[in-house]
Amino acid sequence: MVTTHNLGFPRIGGNRELKFALESLWQGKTHAANLQATAEQLRARHWAYQKSCDYRPVGDFSLYDHVLDTSFLLGNIPERAGSGDTLQQYFRVARGRAHNTDDCGCTRAGEMTKWFDTNYHYIVPEFDAQTQFALNPERLLGELSEARQQGGKVKPVLLGPVTYLWLGKARDGSNKLDLLESLLEIYSQLLQRLEDAGVEWVQLDEPILATDLSPEWKQALERSCHRFKTQKINLLLSTYFGALEDNLQLACTLPVAGLHIDAINNPKEVTRVVDWLPAHKVLSLGVIDGRNIWKTDLNAALEWLQPLADKRGDGLWLAPSCSLLHVPVDLTNESALDPEIKSWLSFAVQKLEELAVLAKALNHGCESVAQALEDNKAAILGRRSSTRVHNASVQAAMGQINAEFGQRRSPFPTRAALQRQALNLPEFPTTTIGSFPQTDEIRSLRRRYKLGELQQMEYERLIKQEIERAVSVQEELGLDVLVHGEAERNDMVEYFGEQLQGYAFSEKGWVQSYGSRCVKPPILYGDISRPSGMTLQWIQYAQSLTQKPLKGMLTGPVTMLNWSFVRDDQKRSRTALQLALAIREEVQQLEAAGIQIIQIDEAALREGLPLRRTEWQGYLDWAVEAYRISANGVSDSTQIHTHMCYSEFNDIIAAVAQMDADVITIESSRSDMELLNAFEKFSYPNDIGPGVYDIHSPNIPTVEQIVENMRRAAQRIPAERLWVNPDCGLKTRKWDEVLSALSNMVSAARALRDVSEPAETNTLMANG
Ligand code: GLN
Ligand code: ZN
Repeated sequence: MVTTHNLGFPRIGGNRELKFALESLWQGKTHAANLQATAEQLRARHWAYQKSCDYRPVGDFSLYDHVLDTSFLLGNIPERAGSGDTLQQYFRVARGRAHNTDDCGCTRAGEMTKWFDTNYHYIVPEFDAQTQFALNPERLLGELSEARQQGGKVKPVLLGPVTYLWLGKARDGSNKLDLLESLLEIYSQLLQRLEDAGVEWVQLDEPILATDLSPEWKQALERSCHRFKTQKINLLLSTYFGALEDNLQLACTLPVAGLHIDAINNPKEVTRVVDWLPAHKVLSLGVIDGRNIWKTDLNAALEWLQPLADKRGDGLWLAPSCSLLHVPVDLTNESALDPEIKSWLSFAVQKLEELAVLAKALNHGCESVAQALEDNKAAILGRRSSTRVHNASVQAAMGQINAEFGQRRSPFPTRAALQRQALNLPEFPTTTIGSFPQTDEIRSLRRRYKLGELQQMEYERLIKQEIERAVSVQEELGLDVLVHGEAERNDMVEYFGEQLQGYAFSEKGWVQSYGSRCVKPPILYGDISRPSGMTLQWIQYAQSLTQKPLKGMLTGPVTMLNWSFVRDDQKRSRTALQLALAIREEVQQLEAAGIQIIQIDEAALREGLPLRRTEWQGYLDWAVEAYRISANGVSDSTQIHTHMCYSEFNDIIAAVAQMDADVITIESSRSDMELLNAFEKFSYPNDIGPGVYDIHSPNIPTVEQIVENMRRAAQRIPAERLWVNPDCGLKTRKWDEVLSALSNMVSAARALRDVSEPAETNTLMANG
């Protein structure tokens, strides 16, 4: 008999109940008890959804983040969490304050970063040489008894000690692994407590097994598992998000009772794991994609699972590939989705139904689930042959792509000279990244238009008013390259997705990004085409209002891809090319209408990097090519910009240079111009605007700070290739903040021009 289990369930709630409960507590509208009650209801509901699983997870629920929960479980709580109850301390670490009027003041929020290659962000554990751990198991034990009240078997989920250390940062530069021994002591105590509570199996997540590990980290995994060997409790060592590769032998031989692997992102390795994993150990296969929203081909899965089930008998477990945290809750909540497209999809609840069908087929024969298998087959075949998915003219256009598509006509120096002539910009040109404040009025405008409460003409008139305001503000400030302000866009991917064929949108397909924040990734289901222009009317209108050059604003193909749920029936690289062709058409339309500067944002290019270094180049090759195809179908005098929102650049700087944008604007001030380190060894060839102030903070940068940041930039990049701009778009800021900050930015640029004018008194370059 195969056993089924789940690694984790989305916490946020099908209607984002957790989000609203959190935010009303922070706003002081409710009490902690209300939040806890909502959380308890959600947990109960989620366990009920999972009742078909032989083992349901416990401890996967979190009020904010499971890595932060682990820090609290292990007593690794930064001092600045202050006094008060645990929940207050927890939110202080999570977000800088327990609630919006926290009189403990704003402490520094814990650093947040991406959970492996997903779009989920965790709070980075903090260590130093003195870190001491202490077990706080009450929350976990409480949830254990809560879950048991529902009956059925449960399986506590723990973030493994080695991955926990790996994810954290030692602020004093000490070696995190020096803490391993004391950490293992706490985990041993915890496992003992769980054993005493009658727990049979614990899921010990060590997803770092899917990454490149140095010998020290491999050894740490060994030490950890050997340490727990004496305990009676069964450990299911779990890894996901990729292949084990050179960690395979290690993973199979560690002294644990079972191993879970991701058979979706790693199908080729299953046979090797089956060979290596001793027969007495449980093999858990993640056979349902926990990262994407397509139905599983159950008949195909059964075909390869049946022989394994015969071979391993009770030792075979089945599960989703990873926690379902990364998919929306329930497809039945979607009433507006096109029924044909809906029939191809599966959210968390449906994924567990699929799992149950697989198990029943293996345990009781396919006849026992004949109808479900038949329905599944129809859906899979329907999707495969649907004319909604396959578009002959897109295929034909793909066939037309040749090497010239990605190639500008002339090299950068030639282009730059022509652009200088055409644009006549001053030294240190100033610009912004695209969006201006998204006020409540703008949001309500768009909402009313969507609901049909506003007629199109009226909507357009009001958006145009916003554009007028943005343009006149920029003229008054004295910026050099203007933008239209993006008032018509709710989201930089959704806005374009809604106008492209091949994209669908859910109503409630929310996925947690961090804490109470969720994203609703669009669903890219079919061949991408662009039925008509997407941006021209706004950009052209904005340009008509000013003599200064206006920068047309688009989202790049790789960002469209990385921030969507993407079809799994063709390579991502191919889908990226289709997106690139659609954006290329838009670029060419803007150019033909006289727009001389076009920015193609690739905010998410870096986050698509594979977990394994060996796969980076392959990804970067096609990602850069897709970008180039989108951007490079223009004449030399048209200036192409791109923008990226991160500063960890050293790794990919060569690929970024290959994008060959005439100008790149990049986040850098938040990380104290750390970005500039990338230019120490690599001389970036084109123009660059290192963000001179942090737009994530309401603080207004002073002229001096901006000048100083630019001076530092000029040490690494010739001044004549530098632009002056903020870190990122301004949509989350208030107008008064934007006005003061940009006014200082323009003054700073003028100051820089004044000193850099006469070559012999070039203090900017001299002082640095
Ligand atoms: N053009 C977008 C904006 O200004 C870019 C956003 C981003 O980089 N995340 O809002
Ligand atoms: Zn940005």
